[in-house]
Amino acid sequence: MDTGGIAAGSLEVMDAFRAEFEKAEVDARIEKHCAMHQVGCRGFCDRDVLVDITIDGERTTYQYVKPDMVPRLVMEHIVSGSPVEEWRVGDDYHKFYTLQKKVVLANNGKIDPENIQEYIDLGGYETVRRVLTEMAPAEVIETIKASGLRGRGGAGFPSGLKWEICASKEAVPKYLICNADEGDPGAFMDRSVIEGNPHTMIEGMSIGAFAIGAPTAYVYIRAEYPLAVERLKIALQQARERGFLGKGIHGSTFDFDIKVKLGAGAFVCGEETALIASIEGERGMPRAKPPYPADKGLWGKPTIINNVETWANITPIMKNGAEWFASIGSENSKGTKVFALTGKIRNTGLIEVPMGISLRDIIFDIGGGIKGGKLLKAVQTGGPSGGCIPQQHIDLKVDYESLKSVGSMMGSGGMVVLDETDCMVNITKFFLEFTQAESCGKCTPCRIGTKRLLEILTRITEGEGKKGDINLLVDLANDVKDSSLCGLGMSAPNPILSTIKYFRHEYEAHIHQKKCPAKVCRKLLTFFIREDLCVGCGMCKKNCPVKAISGEPKKAHRVNTAVCIKCGACYDICKFSAVLKE
Ligand code: SF4
Ligand code: SF4
Ligand code: SF4
Repeated sequence: MDTGGIAAGSLEVMDAFRAEFEKAEVDARIEKHCAMHQVGCRGFCDRDVLVDITIDGERTTYQYVKPDMVPRLVMEHIVSGSPVEEWRVGDDYHKFYTLQKKVVLANNGKIDPENIQEYIDLGGYETVRRVLTEMAPAEVIETIKASGLRGRGGAGFPSGLKWEICASKEAVPKYLICNADEGDPGAFMDRSVIEGNPHTMIEGMSIGAFAIGAPTAYVYIRAEYPLAVERLKIALQQARERGFLGKGIHGSTFDFDIKVKLGAGAFVCGEETALIASIEGERGMPRAKPPYPADKGLWGKPTIINNVETWANITPIMKNGAEWFASIGSENSKGTKVFALTGKIRNTGLIEVPMGISLRDIIFDIGGGIKGGKLLKAVQTGGPSGGCIPQQHIDLKVDYESLKSVGSMMGSGGMVVLDETDCMVNITKFFLEFTQAESCGKCTPCRIGTKRLLEILTRITEGEGKKGDINLLVDLANDVKDSSLCGLGMSAPNPILSTIKYFRHEYEAHIHQKKCPAKVCRKLLTFFIREDLCVGCGMCKKNCPVKAISGEPKKAHRVNTAVCIKCGACYDICKFSAVLKE
């Protein structure tokens, strides 16, 4: 029951179960109490709404559940004890999880995020209690350092080292921040953690605060995440009521509390110095570094900023030990990574995989391959500032160094799969539109440079590309990368550089032949009708906005290309595949 599940109809399904329990007097019929509860995201968004029915410890999972399926599930399965076979998940459902390793998401989909007791029943808050009573702050930092944990928000800086630098500063008070300003289009990792199990983050933050000696923390969270904000506030309140936040937490002498600050709605506020400015009530604009926040952060005091996923890793590390964590992953990238797997993939959803897994395993095993049997063209990682990794690197290991080596990056965990019908120039333009619009305008290379880059990409996709445009894009992209003030400008050119590196031929076709090989860029297309396939139904003629189509009923129609404005309406509406584009 997270935002995705609710959008798919989980509230209606829950209401239907409630109504059916009452109507069918289920408790009386089965002579037991039948309880129902919500859980957070389980990851397999594509199969929503998912429902588990557990009888005497035996769990059956149903997929694509709609309210009208509920009476049968109640009567046949709950009352009569016979599962409804045709609605049960199959092997492909279980395969989605086989190669995954759940650390951060271990309890997502198991507990009710609005009930702290369910987290406690699974051992929640036991680790922070032990840390507070048995460990010194320096030991905590040593454990995090030894685990090899790197920040999951983008840059991948070693978390323990950052904590150590902050703890070593004399200035007080120190602050701790959780960056939940997840702004990448298509990314929903942090949202799902908070909506599914906010306590794992709160416990991790409590441990971090103890380690660096910070009495106050902030969660800077997107205002566009109303359910996550609500569940976070409920979780914080429940933690306060139990003495897990506030004065002397968990019966110790350590005071700690967490405040919630709603994001200002700008992508750049995810950058740590802009985020700090925003909490301070200033306009969210990045500043030059150094000094880094660990030295001079919130209100000029030493501050640690980590994102939701990083904080959610802390409790498992402290619980299971640094060695356990370091045993997962690749040489320089330890642990797991959560990705939002989207695009032209069969199984879209939220996945958590060990670092070092191959792209092939993610796309073809977990993701189930490309939708509609099409060919994989590229994988875009790292959000709008990431790079496009071509199909030939399908066996690339997914870790910080490997992604960087092919011109992409880990970012916060967006992974968009592109197939043969995607135009790489057009996709690049889409990402540039986003970063250009989100540039805060403080520094010239990013403010003007991204605008010029977007202008060049736009004219290429509209058939106005000129000889020399590719080199101009490369030169300008490198200039913007090298001279921008913050990560947004430094990484915004990544999609351009990676697509030119791997898909130069597509740029050349757009510029020199005025063709879009993927047949996406409408201004470069010609629409025509194949007379042998046309049955003369007239639908295209009726829907053409400029009367560019002529023809008698039941006879082949024709497009007047001199009048056609290439809107594509005829192509979309023809049921006989008689309209072609080239
Ligand atoms: S790089 Fe862009 S977003 Fe960052 S400070 Fe400069 S103008 Fe603002
Ligand atoms: S919609 Fe298709 S079949 Fe009908 S007239 Fe147009 S091209 Fe022919
Ligand atoms: S592409 Fe649009 S304008 Fe052109 S013929 Fe088809 S419907 Fe008419």
